[in-house]
Amino acid sequence: MTQPRCGAQTLRGRPCTKPAITNSSRCQLHQGGWSGYGVAQRKKKEAEATMRKLRKKK
Ligand SMILES: [Zn+2]
Repeated sequence: MTQPRCGAQTLRGRPCTKPAITNSSRCQLHQGGWSGYGVAQRKKKEAEATMRKLRKKK
């Protein structure tokens, strides 16, 4: 059984060679953490959450 590779771009500009987690296209490191993609996604979510909080207060 061949496991798919993570393939996320690392800080050094190379694709990650770690095996991806089952049901995810990324490895444990990159599935939601510190990859450029993950950071961008998290910032987006945080911004949305902040907007929601501001709306709820009113
Ligand atoms: Zn990875």
